[in-house]
Amino acid sequence: MRLGLRKGSADWASRWPWRLSARLLIASSIATVIGFAAVCTSVLLDMRRGEEALARQTLENFASGIDADINRNIELYDLSLRNVVNNVGLPEIADVSKPILHLILFDHAATAQHFGAIQVFDASGRLTIDASTLDPLPENRGDEDYFKVHRDNPDVGLFISKPMLHRGAYAIVLSRRINTPDGRFFGVVAGSIRFSYFHELFGRLNLEQDDTITVLRRDRTVIMRTPFDLDVIGKNLNTRSGWNPANLPDGGSYLGVGPVDSIPRLYVRRTSTSPLIVIVGKPLDSILRLWHLEAMRIGAIMLTLIALALVVTMLLAREMGRRAQAEKRLEELASTDALTGLKNRRKFDATIESEWRRAIRYATPISLLMIDGDHFKAFNDKFGHQAGDQLLLGFAICITDSVRRAGDCAARYGGEEFAVLLPGQAAADAMQVAETIRLKVQEWSDGERATVSIGVASVTPVAPMDWPGLVSSADKALYAAKAAGRNRCIAATVPSLSLVA
Ligand code: GH3
Ligand code: MG
Ligand code: MG
Repeated sequence: MRLGLRKGSADWASRWPWRLSARLLIASSIATVIGFAAVCTSVLLDMRRGEEALARQTLENFASGIDADINRNIELYDLSLRNVVNNVGLPEIADVSKPILHLILFDHAATAQHFGAIQVFDASGRLTIDASTLDPLPENRGDEDYFKVHRDNPDVGLFISKPMLHRGAYAIVLSRRINTPDGRFFGVVAGSIRFSYFHELFGRLNLEQDDTITVLRRDRTVIMRTPFDLDVIGKNLNTRSGWNPANLPDGGSYLGVGPVDSIPRLYVRRTSTSPLIVIVGKPLDSILRLWHLEAMRIGAIMLTLIALALVVTMLLAREMGRRAQAEKRLEELASTDALTGLKNRRKFDATIESEWRRAIRYATPISLLMIDGDHFKAFNDKFGHQAGDQLLLGFAICITDSVRRAGDCAARYGGEEFAVLLPGQAAADAMQVAETIRLKVQEWSDGERATVSIGVASVTPVAPMDWPGLVSSADKALYAAKAAGRNRCIAATVPSLSLVA
């Protein structure tokens, strides 16, 4: 009995592992592919973040250098302006000669290469002193922005003008207000830094195509930009649509499209308290050029490996499926009787073993019919063995037609003997099935007068009863049917029913 159970388990194990393994293989392969793709993607994204961080740091250093140079020059020039502001109204210099006055007011810093001459204008905008000449030509700057700003606001301090044509060259004008000792407006001192300074500064830098450097006033008026573009210079970026100045706070960076063109860049703004802001930008394409190449290389390798893994998995899974089907067919062949197509003895033993245990577990009845051809030897002798085989096939068809419930098991028990297991059926139902079979055989073989005798045994088993007891009860009932004249069904007699607990 145990042997039977083990055989049943072995059947199950031999039937299922392949199917499970094929599914498991596909699932684990897909999980591996997804995991592999996730790791690769994460590594690539990390690399991309690394490239961006490196570019940000480089641009910060770049902006820092430019900012330092520009603001050092502005401070230098502003010192010269302050010197004029502090000294021009002193009563001690009212009567000194013009050359001495120039020596007192203008130091040599203001005569550097890209700096324009410092000029002093009186309260009405008339040029009174010019560092470049002792006898300046008449000039009035009363209408200039930088003059009006100082005239109308005492607290402006250093004012940097918009870029303008100043003495025949593009320049920014730096100016300060001069007050009388009692705080009234005395005039304006102004000087200029020519664009040639910015051109030279930016020319020294190693810029790639589409790199940008923008120098802005604090009100976001563009003072200078490279690539040089007169359409942008002097314009206020705050007025550009689609651009939010909050995108780029002091010391921050911004990744996207800027206010001037549509090229996506990484923009970095230098933290600074100086009057001018420096923003440098580098196109994203140029920052990520190497990363793109690397990503494409890794991506191509990744896709190839994934495709390979999937193809191998599918081939293996298909092979496993084929093997599973072949094993299933073999299993069916191994459990089927070749002549009748019913279950064979081996399968019957395995089935009765498992059904017996189930019946004990659920306390349900189980019935067994043992069916034997009557005078079969004589039939064989009279009509030949092949006709006997046909008769056996006819018996099998009659049995199959009468046993239709799922779970019922009709088997060829041996020779011209058949067994029908009816799990869940009590004696009366089993007897009815037996009678149906008997009548069907009788009806079908009317010409040959072939009949069957059937022994029926039923029980609701309890442990530790064994199923061979049921078989022997059915056998005994079959003998009883033979003894009683054949072509009949007999239920197990009282001693056999002692099986029932
Ligand atoms: P009874 O009514 O008492 O059962 O008489 P019987 O002739 O059927 O008795 P017995 O069991 O002695 O004979 C069985 C015969 O069935 C013997 C054998 O020739 C025949 N037989 C067994 N297997 C096959 C088979 O596969 N094909 C054929 N044609 N005959 C078979
Ligand atoms: Mg027999
Ligand atoms: Mg017989």
